[in-house]
Amino acid sequence: MNLHEYQGKELLEKFGVAIQRGKVVESVEEAVTAYRELQEETGTDFAVVKAQIHAGGRGKGGGVKLAKSAGDLREHADNILGMMLKTPQTPGGMEGPGKLVRKVLIAEDVYAPDFDACKEFYISVLMDRERRSNVIIYSTEGGMDIEKVAEETPHLVHKEHIHPGIGLLPFQARKVAFNLGLEGIAFKNMVKFITNLYRAFTDSDASLFEINPCLKTGDDRIVAVDCKVSLDENALFRHPHL
Ligand code: ADP
Ligand code: MG
Repeated sequence: MNLHEYQGKELLEKFGVAIQRGKVVESVEEAVTAYRELQEETGTDFAVVKAQIHAGGRGKGGGVKLAKSAGDLREHADNILGMMLKTPQTPGGMEGPGKLVRKVLIAEDVYAPDFDACKEFYISVLMDRERRSNVIIYSTEGGMDIEKVAEETPHLVHKEHIHPGIGLLPFQARKVAFNLGLEGIAFKNMVKFITNLYRAFTDSDASLFEINPCLKTGDDRIVAVDCKVSLDENALFRHPHL
């Protein structure tokens, strides 16, 4: 069972994984209200409108838009709500009919104010059946198509296998942070991010948690900007709230 981005983020937050904050809405008026609230909280006029559909690649299809003012936000929300969003991952791809957008997430712009100091990473946790273990797949090349990165620059995609009985060992989380080129506070925050992400994966009986991009902000926070979560249907009875 796949979760929407906003549902996946709620789950992550419960496990102490830092997320890009936001509110899910179904109308333009609600979107503007959510924007005003976010503006008060964050102190900036920048916010992002993100279509909530069960497919990735939304950015490419026009389903993720940055607003720099309330006027911008109204325009983007009006365009995206109710649109048939085509992405490379919707049925039939960019030639297909697309998917109807019923909900949008109004989210903080975590790239502001220091856009140039931000770094986007790719991080996922899943099961490696061949190795009979869980695996964290990660890369410094975040924000883009990971299949393409794996094909063209396979040396930039790292894997950390985790014994399902023993669990994630502290040195493994540190190794991930090290290989991502982090140091200081960002390193510590990444270790915490990985540790909590892995706990979210196992405790919710998930088959996939994919964070792309995972962002290092200008002030060295590590934040899940996007997330794709799939839960193991055979274990859903253990999680009635999901
Ligand atoms: P998808 O993977 O479905 O395209 P994402 O949530 O990953 O959706 O968003 C697509 C891209 O939009 C991201 O890779 C990121 O570069 C950009 N983006 C997302 N949120 C923000 C934000 N708050 N500020 C600026 N850019 C953003
Ligand atoms: Mg993404």
